[in-house]
Amino acid sequence: MSTSPRSGAAQARTGQQYLSAIDDGRQVFINGQCLTRHSQHPAFSGAVASVAGLYDYQASHLEDMTFDLDGQRRVSKAWELPQRHEQLLGRAHASLAWARQSLGWLGRSPDHVSAALSGMLTHIEVFEAHCPDRAAALKSYFAYARERDLYLTYTIVNPQGDRSRSPGEHAQNLYHTLGVVKETDAGVIVTGAKMLGTAAVLADEVLVGVQNPLKPGVDERYALSFALPLNTPGIKILSRVSYAEGSNRFDHPLSSRFDENDALIYFDNVLVPWERLFVYGDTGMCRRQFHSTAAEVLMDTQSLARLTTKLHFLTGLAQRMTEITGVSDFPAVRELLGEMACNTLMIEGLFKSLIHCPVTQGKYVVPDKKHLYMCQAVAQSVYPKFIETLRKLAGGGVIMLPSSVDDLANPQARALMEQTQYSSVASPLERVQVMKLAWDAMGSEFGSRHLQYEMFYSGPHFVALSRVHSEYDWEGAKALACSALAETAEFR
Ligand SMILES: Cc1cc2nc3c(=O)[nH]c(=O)nc-3n(C[C@H](O)[C@H](O)[C@H](O)COP(=O)(O)OP(=O)(O)OC[C@H]3O[C@@H](n4cnc5c(N)ncnc54)[C@H](O)[C@@H]3O)c2cc1C
Repeated sequence: MSTSPRSGAAQARTGQQYLSAIDDGRQVFINGQCLTRHSQHPAFSGAVASVAGLYDYQASHLEDMTFDLDGQRRVSKAWELPQRHEQLLGRAHASLAWARQSLGWLGRSPDHVSAALSGMLTHIEVFEAHCPDRAAALKSYFAYARERDLYLTYTIVNPQGDRSRSPGEHAQNLYHTLGVVKETDAGVIVTGAKMLGTAAVLADEVLVGVQNPLKPGVDERYALSFALPLNTPGIKILSRVSYAEGSNRFDHPLSSRFDENDALIYFDNVLVPWERLFVYGDTGMCRRQFHSTAAEVLMDTQSLARLTTKLHFLTGLAQRMTEITGVSDFPAVRELLGEMACNTLMIEGLFKSLIHCPVTQGKYVVPDKKHLYMCQAVAQSVYPKFIETLRKLAGGGVIMLPSSVDDLANPQARALMEQTQYSSVASPLERVQVMKLAWDAMGSEFGSRHLQYEMFYSGPHFVALSRVHSEYDWEGAKALACSALAETAEFR
C-alpha cells in the first residue's frame, strides 16, 4: 500500500532535503581539481539526482518504506531493529522497492550501511564486552543517524598496498593504512587510507571499519571503527575516473544516472571524537563487529534484494535484445535465456530463503549467517557467468552502433542509421537504444566496474568460501555420510 505525505503527519526525509545537505564542503579530488561543491559536477550530478529520487520515492510510499520513529518523523525501515518476522520482511520489501528505482544498479543505496549499523545494534552486547564506552558511543551515534535518516557509506577494507604482510609489518610506511597517530582528550588522531568508498560523493557520512585480518600485538593501531561526516577537516575523497562525465541518457542510459562512484579515502590527521569511536585497539573486535553481530547479514540481505532486481533487469534485456536480432526462438538461444532465468530465480530464491527462514537471536529475528555467506559466494560466481552469457547473445550488435546521440541530429547520418539498424520487431531507433543499454550494462566502463563490484564488494571469493567452510555443519554432514556404513559394521 502506498501513501502520500499528509500535512500534520510524521514525514520522511525528502529528495530536496538530501540535496540541500550534500554540498557540505567535503573535498573531492577529480581530474586534477579539488572540488568543495561537487553535487552539480557532471561526474556526480546524475547519481545525486538518482539518490534524491530514492528519498522522494520513500517520502511518497511511507507505509511501505518507512516506520514511525517517535510520532515526529518516519525513517527508512533499514533502521528498524527486527523483533518480529514481519519487520524483517518489511525491511526486505522496502529494499526491493528501492532497488527497483535504480533497476538494481545502485549498490550502496542508503539502506545498505544503515542495515549494517542496525545489525550492530541488535548485538550491542558484543560492543559492551569490547568496551562499555565504545558501546555507548555506538548507541548514541545510531540514534543520531537514525533520527536524521542519514545516508552512510563505509570503508571497511584496508588499501591494497602489499598484502603479503599485515599493515603493522610495514615499518617504513606505517600510515599507508589508516591508523591512530595519537590520543588526545577529545579523541584519537588518525592518518592513512581506506578503500574503497563507494558512494562517498553521495553519502552524508562514512563508517570506517576493518574486514581484513589484523595481527594481535602488531596491528592494534589499525583496529578502529568510527563514523564521521564526509566534510570533516582532513578527509580527502580521491575519486576514480567518472563514467558519468561526458555521458548522456541516450548513449549511456545507466552510467549517466547510476554511476555511484568509488573513492579511495585519505584521512590526513583527522580527529575522531571519543563519542564517534566504536572499536579501538582490539584486533579481534574488528571482525566481531561484522561477523558476531547481524551487521553482515542485514547489509548483504539488502545486497541480495538489489542483485535479484538487477538480474531480472538483465534477463529482460537479454530477451528483448534477442527478439530484436530475431534469434530468441532458436533452441540454443532459448537454452541460454533459460539459463539466465534459472540463475535469476536461484538468486531470488536465495534472497527469499534469507528472509523467510530467519533465526532468532536474543530479541531479534535475523537471516541465518551460514545461508548469507553461501549467498555471497554463489552471487560472486553467478554474475560473471551471467555477463558472459549476455555477451554471447549480443554478438556485434552492441558495437555496430552510431557513435553518439549527435548522429541523430545529422540528417544524413540519421538516414543511414534508419537504413542500417534493421529489425523486424523494433524500429531502428529502438534497436539502437536497446543495444546501447546492453553495452552500458555489460561492456562499458560502468558495466565492467559492475562486474568487478559483484565479484568483490562482499570480499574476495576465497574469503566468502572460507566463511561458508567455517559455518557449515560438517559434523552433521559427516554423520549422515557415515550412516551409510552402519550396516557394514561386520567388516570392521
Ligand atoms: C567496485 C568496487 C566497489 C567497492 N566498494 C567498497 C565499499 O564501498 N567499501 C569498502 O569498504 N570496500 C569496497 N570495495 C572493496 C572490496 O571490499 C575489496 O575489493 C575486497 O574486499 C577485496 O579486497 P582487495 O580488493 O584488496 O583484494 P585482495 O584482498 O588483494 O584480493 C585480490 C585477489 O588476490 C588473491 N588473494 C589475496 N589474498 C589472498 C590470500 N590470502 N589467499 C589466496 N588468495 C589471495 C585472490 O585471488 C583475490 O581475489 C569495493 C570493491 C570494488 C571492486
